[in-house]
Amino acid sequence: MNIFKITRRAFVFSGVLALASLLTATARPANAAINVVTSLPELAAITREVGGDNVSVYSVARPNNDYHRYEALPSDVARISRAKLVVTTGMEFEMWMTSLINAAARPNLQPGGPGYVNTSEGVRRLEVPTQQISGASGDIHSDGNPHFYYDPVYAKFIARSVLRGLIRVDAAHGDAYRANYGRFNSQIDAHMATYKAELGPYAGEGVVTYHQNYAYFLRRFGLKQYGNVEPKPGIPPSARHVNELAQNMKRDHIRAIIVESIYPTRFPTLLAQQAGTKYVVAPYSVGSLGTTNYFNFMDKLVASFKSALSHN
Ligand SMILES: [Zn+2]
Repeated sequence: MNIFKITRRAFVFSGVLALASLLTATARPANAAINVVTSLPELAAITREVGGDNVSVYSVARPNNDYHRYEALPSDVARISRAKLVVTTGMEFEMWMTSLINAAARPNLQPGGPGYVNTSEGVRRLEVPTQQISGASGDIHSDGNPHFYYDPVYAKFIARSVLRGLIRVDAAHGDAYRANYGRFNSQIDAHMATYKAELGPYAGEGVVTYHQNYAYFLRRFGLKQYGNVEPKPGIPPSARHVNELAQNMKRDHIRAIIVESIYPTRFPTLLAQQAGTKYVVAPYSVGSLGTTNYFNFMDKLVASFKSALSHN
């Protein structure tokens, strides 16, 4: 009888364990999407392309936040603590992401760790300062221009870095990630052919943008940065700077002004009036102006430049 009782108890106990493991399995199935946290919406959009259904992606900065000035929330630390992979520009740009990763105190997610992705790998940086930038100069691109994610060809580099990261933390789905990456590259190539056809006729022409956001994009399409509404990256415009810029634009027959969707339009309006032209608003984020993924975002960005350049 004694033995029977023990056996019976053991049976009930193992039943409870089985039920517990079943509940756990229901909450976290073996094929659950892995959590990825990116600093920027553009990196999130590209990560979704490579990760597909196997990833759940969260971007710390939201569309239309100024990425240079984002103020992180305590809930962002919690998000990163639960992540298997973090994706950043790897440049001295979104320093709030570095602080968040440090606060999460997960060695795997630190630079050099398997769960850390530096998407600027292989990117040839533009505008790297030749001398140390002081706070007084106001330039917020201390590590070179960080806005390489607006270049569709560099989007393929970003996707490659994300692919390597995903394989490091989730090798079981490596084949799916490689297939998604291959498809993304082919789609970029197809879109690039269209973009080159749209912007090709304007090669060599100069454009004015609010912030120095499009250095990589302009270089890719053979366009030139003529000036910025900001006197220096991160320094707010002044009437004097805008007046000088407008005079120069008239002299040099520059008529294309692009305003990234996060910036106020007071100075661009003044600049356009004084230069005798119009400005065009371009999407700052994947998520700005109704865009939902990297491709319709880039379509809209290219259309904005085409529209501004056709003022000539
Ligand atoms: Zn910037």
